[in-house]
Amino acid sequence: MASTTFASPPSQSHGAHSFLGKLNGRWHRWALRAFVIIVVAHWAEHLVQAYQVYVLGWPLHQARGVLGQALPWLVHSEVMHYGYALIMLVGIWTLLPGFVGRARAWWLAALVIQFWHHIEHALLQGQAITGRTLFGAPVPTSIAQLVIPRLELHLVYNTLVFVPMMVAMYYHLFPSASDAAASRCSCALRSHPASS
Ligand SMILES: [Zn+2]
Repeated sequence: MASTTFASPPSQSHGAHSFLGKLNGRWHRWALRAFVIIVVAHWAEHLVQAYQVYVLGWPLHQARGVLGQALPWLVHSEVMHYGYALIMLVGIWTLLPGFVGRARAWWLAALVIQFWHHIEHALLQGQAITGRTLFGAPVPTSIAQLVIPRLELHLVYNTLVFVPMMVAMYYHLFPSASDAAASRCSCALRSHPASS
């Protein structure tokens, strides 16, 4: 049988029919929505925790967000914090190929910041496992924590990741004509004539 009888092109690992290809193609719309819901829920927990400390005046140890009030071990578990930072890093990374043009630049910025945020959590996790802390601190301490306390620092980190993600989402949902033409997913809410 001659190879010319094959009607469809051979499948590639990064082709539109692979799992990653679908995730960044026709599944991008729903994958992105599900991921953003998880990210917003987590960011909201950090905001609630800051509210509990600064507005309600609760002691830091008791200010555990919403989920943490019912499940205190969640907030006090370094594995949970590391796991979340990893999920966020993998999620941003996995959904990056679906972004094009201006949206991609902003999504990439979120990826770079989350990569560093994840390194900080890896340092905390390492200290929790080995039982030895950095800088002679009484509790696991990350590098930027030398400058900013933990509650404020992670609120800042999550905000620094969240803002470029939202800018990227805006440009992804309302793309320029050229970005819309280059896009493989159905996320865009405003349709453009196929010109570039
Ligand atoms: Zn998309």
